[in-house]
Amino acid sequence: MAPSLKTAVVDRVWITDSCIICLACEGVVPEVFNCDSDQAHIRAEARSDHLTDMNPDHAPLTIAAREFSEAIIEAAAGCPVEAIALTMA
Ligand code: SF4
Repeated sequence: MAPSLKTAVVDRVWITDSCIICLACEGVVPEVFNCDSDQAHIRAEARSDHLTDMNPDHAPLTIAAREFSEAIIEAAAGCPVEAIALTMA
């Protein structure tokens, strides 16, 4: 029997200063990303520190938010300016 592949789990995600507020990430994972007129954010509901900002301190995602790992990776890959940074558990 072939070994099963371990599913990738994102444990931290943050936005860098190169964000151009194109709204794409929010469109892919609105449960994690949120954009206003000034910048993109990582939602408070998705973070262990319950803050809403670009997550400059790289606060870990909640267990529930990690369920969106595949979509978060998709959003990061689709960011036109590579402004989404992440780490894997
Ligand atoms: S996809 Fe990238 S550039 Fe667009 S809002 Fe999100 S972080 Fe910013």
